Amino acid sequence: RRRLDNRNGPTGLLGEIQTLINTEPMDSMYEITGELGRGKFAVVKRCMEKATGKMFAAKFLRKRRQGRDCRAEVVHEMAVLEATRNNPRVVNLQAAYETDHDIILLLEYAAGGEIFDYCDCDELLPEGQITRLIRQMLEGVHLLHQTSVVHLDLKPQNILLTSLAPLGDIKIVDFGLARKLGTVGELREILGTPEYVGDDKQETYLNVSQVNVDYSQEAFSRVSELAVDFIRKLLVKTPEDRSSAADCMTHPWLWHQYPITEPITPRTPRERSSGNKWAAPPEDPEDKEN
Ligand code: ADP
Ligand code: MG
Repeated sequence: RRRLDNRNGPTGLLGEIQTLINTEPMDSMYEITGELGRGKFAVVKRCMEKATGKMFAAKFLRKRRQGRDCRAEVVHEMAVLEATRNNPRVVNLQAAYETDHDIILLLEYAAGGEIFDYCDCDELLPEGQITRLIRQMLEGVHLLHQTSVVHLDLKPQNILLTSLAPLGDIKIVDFGLARKLGTVGELREILGTPEYVGDDKQETYLNVSQVNVDYSQEAFSRVSELAVDFIRKLLVKTPEDRSSAADCMTHPWLWHQYPITEPITPRTPRERSSGNKWAAPPEDPEDKEN
């Protein structure tokens, strides 16, 4: 069990940031061009830097939540992003603004949207692309852990793609629950997302906490044997017995050579209830790549 960095006080939140928080309005520099996502306390909007035409994602984080001042949580999220600046699989923090209500983080824009959209749709990515993205994830997580940062909310909604067609690289976002581990203190909070850590729904909770996984032929009919073996090695309850990101990297599934037969079909991100999150890339049939 790793311990929390106690230098950050009893909350485990980092308090020191290098990034200057601008108090002048951001619309003198950036033009908002759409909405990318929405969480409980944050709205993420796509915006364009007027001087360069470059796109960014602006994450508007509410400072007051449930009647409580949460500025420290936002500053912590910024500090974690600064600590992971050298990690190519994490979005970069470019600038920050502050209004009466929000702190706004100007983040590197990941134009391909969430990996989530590939997890519950009928179109499957070629297996060779899936293993390429998983290798990038493992690289990103390994680098985080090397700098003693634990994300604690890794899920398909927080793993984005730099582009869709051709399929780009992964970028990890959302360090709201992330913590820095150190030498003193212990991380004992229950953090995460219900479907992934268990919630008050008895069955979900039991399935997650007891690691009830249906590995039947039927459930995994579209998944290769090597991939199932990889999944089995990840879903191990006792942390000490579970493979580290670096261990996972050596699994033969990730290094299997797939023939370049199926080209990727450029796809349009699924429209979601909260509206169109990002403009679809131009659909050029010549633009297929494995
Ligand atoms: P929350 O803490 O509310 O979950 P996130 O940081 O996860 O906030 O952002 C919410 C959603 O906004 C993400 O799931 C993603 O769809 C979108 N998003 C966040 N950051 C970016 C980014 N840098 N580029 C493109 N989309 C983003
Ligand atoms: Mg999120």
